Amino acid sequence: MIPGEGTEEVVIVGGGLAGAAAACTLAQASRPTLLIERDTAPRHKVCGEFLSIEAQTYLARLGLDLDGLGASHISSIRLINGRRAAEVDLPFTARGVSRMSLDEALLHRAESLGAKLIRGAVVRNIAADGQGIHARADELGVLRPDALFLATGKHDVKGAKRPRSGTSNDLIGFKAHYRLAERQSSLLDGRVEVILFTGGYAGLQMIEDGVANLCLVITQARFKAVGRTWSGLLHSIADETRAFHDRLEGAALLFERPLSISQVPYGFVHLPNPVEPQGLFRTGDQAGVIPSYTGDGMAIALHSGCLAALTYLTHGRASSIFHSQLRADILHQIRLASLLYVATCRPFRQRILLRLCQAWPMVMRHVTSSTRLRDCAVRRVLETP
Ligand SMILES: Cc1cc2nc3c(=O)[nH]c(=O)nc-3n(C[C@H](O)[C@H](O)[C@H](O)COP(=O)(O)OP(=O)(O)OC[C@H]3O[C@@H](n4cnc5c(N)ncnc54)[C@H](O)[C@@H]3O)c2cc1C
Repeated sequence: MIPGEGTEEVVIVGGGLAGAAAACTLAQASRPTLLIERDTAPRHKVCGEFLSIEAQTYLARLGLDLDGLGASHISSIRLINGRRAAEVDLPFTARGVSRMSLDEALLHRAESLGAKLIRGAVVRNIAADGQGIHARADELGVLRPDALFLATGKHDVKGAKRPRSGTSNDLIGFKAHYRLAERQSSLLDGRVEVILFTGGYAGLQMIEDGVANLCLVITQARFKAVGRTWSGLLHSIADETRAFHDRLEGAALLFERPLSISQVPYGFVHLPNPVEPQGLFRTGDQAGVIPSYTGDGMAIALHSGCLAALTYLTHGRASSIFHSQLRADILHQIRLASLLYVATCRPFRQRILLRLCQAWPMVMRHVTSSTRLRDCAVRRVLETP
């Protein structure tokens, strides 16, 4: 796929938020773009479904209407540990919407702008030679684009795997949607609850259509201790935390079974590598993984997708320029969020954190601000002509 030969100049592997944001940006600039997504149809993804203000800014810029998707409004965060709780207003109004609706809407948007989408094809291998980068995909054979955007989220592709060193990757993430009892959903109205328990945390919030999303992150050891079952896990958290027990009492599970992912590499930040070929742009979770309690992973995915596309439009295949800029934009936030995560995962420290937040709610507000993408980074991308 060499430019000028009538085929796609850029191949994007992965149709999540990073890949779709890059596709929208390239298609808006009328660049022939092929987006390859392995799933044949929309599906749910493990995620807290909390959209920060930065993520909302990018989505609005890309032409997405969150009101049209029925996204909920969230203006405060309540931190809960055992019987204690601390609540503070967020420094912005967050939104809650299912990833199934959101990712699908952004993929449609990319297509409507002119990107070509192929679903149901899996890219198996990425390599480089004297002629540039090539990728091998099921059904499509070998592709040789001018640039390849790697946007496969947590899934590594052979030939371009992320290193595991320096990350906390013994974690499992779960997600399930529930219809809560009326009184419990009214208690969640306008707020996200973050419940700290031994070995992890849970996030509970409303999304569209009066549905509640429960997302959990837990260590392998804790999951093993509760017998490796969803019901065992819920019961043990409910025994520790009255509010969690109350929220789920009388709730109807809307999934056949909860979704899960393992080995979430909290703390990973791609280090620009001189050996890696120019023209390979790593975006989203392939470039950096921020601990999910910050609720800014989607913003990083959107930011990286847009930044990669704009860098390509300005500097061509010089992906090292993009990787250095992105690292400068996200390194501090990911390091701070990872340190805080490690510092607060034990019960004793969780109790201290809760008391600190009760005494000085501004601590919580400060954490929610300092672990998010900076305004200046977002503005730099959005103001690029
Ligand atoms: C437990 C948990 C909770 C979270 N909660 C939040 C939250 O509340 N708010 C927030 O902002 N962030 C949250 N995040 C982070 C957020 O979900 C991710 O940062 C974001 O989804 C990354 O987007 P992405 O586009 O990089 O990857 P993804 O959204 O994972 O998309 C990758 C896509 O690539 C496709 N793909 C994979 N491999 C291939 C292949 N070989 N060929 C073709 N296609 C392929 C996949 O099917 C997928 O559609 C959470 C993360 C976790 C783990």
